[in-house]
Amino acid sequence: MKAAPDAQKRLLDLAEQDAALDRLRHRRRTLPELAGIDDLSKRLAQIATQIIAAETEAADLGREQSKAESDVDAVRQRAERDQKRLDSGAVSSPRDLAGLQSEIASLHRRQGDLEEVVLEIMERRETADARVDALRAERETITADLVGAESRRDTAFAEIDKDGSEVTARRKTIAAEIPADLLALYEKLRESSGVGAALLHGGRCLGCRTTMSIADLNAIRAAKPDEVVRCEECRRILVRTNESGL
Ligand SMILES: [Zn+2]
Repeated sequence: MKAAPDAQKRLLDLAEQDAALDRLRHRRRTLPELAGIDDLSKRLAQIATQIIAAETEAADLGREQSKAESDVDAVRQRAERDQKRLDSGAVSSPRDLAGLQSEIASLHRRQGDLEEVVLEIMERRETADARVDALRAERETITADLVGAESRRDTAFAEIDKDGSEVTARRKTIAAEIPADLLALYEKLRESSGVGAALLHGGRCLGCRTTMSIADLNAIRAAKPDEVVRCEECRRILVRTNESGL
């Protein structure tokens, strides 16, 4: 392939823009905020599940407490009824009186036991409610952190994309000055190896950092300036300048 030496040199400018675009893409992919956002989103999903579990537990304990409280009420009312019967003097047989007194005593013991149960449920419920509150507070903090990280990410993305459009515009201008066949070769090489053209500098290909053999250098020396030469090692287009060491 043949191309004017100036067009060949322009490939280096093109390669510079492509390298800049690669760096911008890399920066976009590896922004520190992205890992943070990922972690925070995962924690948020996890905490949503934990909140539902804690809320369910608190609600269950609430129902359990109401049930235990109504058990206490039922026993208390029965004891009160018995006490009224006792106080009314309607029961006169000593045997019945003793039976009634014994039942009242037993109902009081039962009420005491049930009140213990209510207290124990209330304690567990308080713990569950506190856990719901703590999880909700954590969710608020994480949500705020996430919003902050997303906003920093978006700011960084906007800067990167702005730089990207500038580089892309410069690249377009440069590409327009390069003959189509040379550009096509460059693009093909860039696709396969990441870099399409490299400077021959002091007898070294700056694409793969290989020092040319004497024979290769001699072949390049013999090639006319408009001949497009390639690195024998990496096959990239080698651009010759005054610094090439020829
Ligand atoms: Zn090379």
